[in-house]
This record gives sequence, structure tokens and C-alpha cells, in this order.
Amino acid sequence: MPSVTKNMLASTSTKSRVLIVDDVPANCRVLMESLRSDYDIDIATSGEQALEAVIVNQPDLILLDIMMPSMDGYEVCSRLKQDATLQDIPVIFFTAKNDKDDEARGFEWGVVDYISKPFYIPIVKARIKTHLEQKRKRDLLVKLASIDPLTGIPNRRHFTDVFDVEWRRAKRGGSSISLMLVDVDYFKQYNDTYGHSAGDDCLKQIAQGLQRSLKRPGDCAARIGGEEFAILLPETDALGAAIMADRIRIDIEELNMPHNGSREYGRVTVSAGVATTTPGDGMVRQTLLNAADEMLYQAKERGRNQVLGREL
Ligand code: GH3
Ligand code: MG
Ligand code: MG
Repeated sequence: MPSVTKNMLASTSTKSRVLIVDDVPANCRVLMESLRSDYDIDIATSGEQALEAVIVNQPDLILLDIMMPSMDGYEVCSRLKQDATLQDIPVIFFTAKNDKDDEARGFEWGVVDYISKPFYIPIVKARIKTHLEQKRKRDLLVKLASIDPLTGIPNRRHFTDVFDVEWRRAKRGGSSISLMLVDVDYFKQYNDTYGHSAGDDCLKQIAQGLQRSLKRPGDCAARIGGEEFAILLPETDALGAAIMADRIRIDIEELNMPHNGSREYGRVTVSAGVATTTPGDGMVRQTLLNAADEMLYQAKERGRNQVLGREL
């Protein structure tokens, strides 16, 4: 199993967070007392409070009373479903009345289950456990789908998503954004000299090196092809990107991985193309990608182990 998978499994084994929403504090207390040893619990006593609580501390599961004054459970649920970052949190409704139409309506809203009042704690516990397990598996799949299995860093698919979000953010905010494409020099030779498995190890070290070089939380490095990596630097102008790119290139060179197939340098090096822009209204992100690719091509032409950049 790749190490990243192990790490991710470990990271999901911490206590799950459950948000209990009921306008009757006594109901909240009963649930809280029976669940607190297994979960981290948050309490909200109104729909409005619940919507605030999910932002402050995103829960893994919400236990939601339907009947509450001012904002009822349906309304809370519909607001959650409108928010892309909250819509996948499973919601279990409490229902006091045994109304089948109400239950059906809840499922239409994306509610995963019902618990009827008065609470029978063993059933409450069993349902919560089942839904949290399912949520954990879904989360793991989402993570795995965005991670490159060889290197453990984000893959092309994840990169495309991040690029899309950051591009739109830069457009809205009128801020600059830089994109760096990195390609390993003479990598075919590396494989031919040391073998494919050594080649794989080399890619792993490069990926880890790239991640170590990044300092800001918004920066994102991904493996977008065999021996090609992309680094997105939001809110970074051309000068900042040039400094970053050069540091990254030097960091890789200083990993000092011997490479006899690279006659000039004798160790593993990378070439990089950087493009920077403040995206205007009609501009598409592919334009930035093409510019960085063109710069990378020229860096190769000029002898490799170097960075070339351009501002659009
Ligand atoms: P250049 O300096 O111009 O970039 O030359 P290069 O040899 O690095 O580039 P080329 O595109 O000719 O070859 C890329 C090589 O990368 C060929 C392929 O076998 C190798 N490669 C691609 N993906 C992987 C991988 O996952 N593992 C290993 N070990 N090798 C890979
Ligand atoms: Mg290549
Ligand atoms: Mg190459």
C-alpha cells in the first residue's frame, strides 16, 4: 500500500465530530451524554445556530430536529445542500410524529436517515455509527481520486480543480497568479541507466522536494504527467514566481541524485517554465498553461536545468 494511503487511513481514525441540533436543550443533553465518549459533540438549539456551527467546526454528521421555531430542519437542510462545501455532510432527522409523508420529504432533501423520538439510545448509536462509517469511506475515495499513487502528491485531476478555483478567485479579486511547469531533464536516460524502479524513486523524491519548497498554504504542487509536475502560485507576481521557481530548481539539484546520463550536470535536474498574469475578463486559464509550456520548451532548448518565465 502506498504510504499516502496509510497516512490517510490514520488521519481518518481520529474522533468524528457530531452536531446535535434541537430547540429543546434537554434533548440535546440526553444525546450528548450518551455520545460524548465516542464523538466530539457540538450543540445548536436553533436552525440559525446550526448554520453558524457548521462553518466554525465542520461536523462529520448532523442530527437535526425537524420541528424548531423560526428556521425548521427542512430549511437548515436545504441551506446545507446549496453550499458545495457542506452538502456532503450526512444529516439524520429527528422525527416526533410518525408521518410517512414527512419522512419521504426528508429523503428528497438528501437526508440520509431518521431517528424517532423519544430516543432509544442503542438505535441512535447504531445509526450514527453506520452513517459515519459510510461517510469515512466516501471521504477516503474522494481523497484517493485526487492523489497520485506513486508520489502521494495531488494528481492532474486535483490540480485542474484547484487551478479552476484559483483562476476564478484571481479574476474576481484582480490579483496575479503564476503557474510553473517542471519537467525532469534526461529522464528517459535515467530510467535506461538505473532502471524503472529507481526512476520511480527519483520521481518520489522530486515530488517531496517540490512540496518542501512550497511555503504558502495556497500553493499547490501536483504530478500532471509521467515526469512532469505543475505548481500553482496564487497571488504571486512575476518577480515572486521567478524567485520561487529558481529556489525550486536549486532545491531539486541539491537533492544530489547522481545521474550519469546527464553529461552536463551529472545529477538529476529539472527545467521549468513559468507564466504569470492578472486574468482579465475574456482570458481563459489554458492561455496561462500554454505560455508556461512554451517557456518550458525554451528552457529545454537553451540547455536544461534552468527556469524561464513570461508575464501575460
Ligand atoms: P528532456 O530532458 O527533454 O525532458 O528529456 P526526457 O528524457 O526527460 O524526456 P522524454 O519525454 O523523452 O522521456 C520521459 C521519460 O519519462 C520517458 C518515460 O519512460 C519516463 N517516465 C514517465 N513516467 C514515468 C514513471 O512513472 N516512472 C518512471 N520510472 N519513468 C517514467
Ligand atoms: Mg516530459
Ligand atoms: Mg523530461
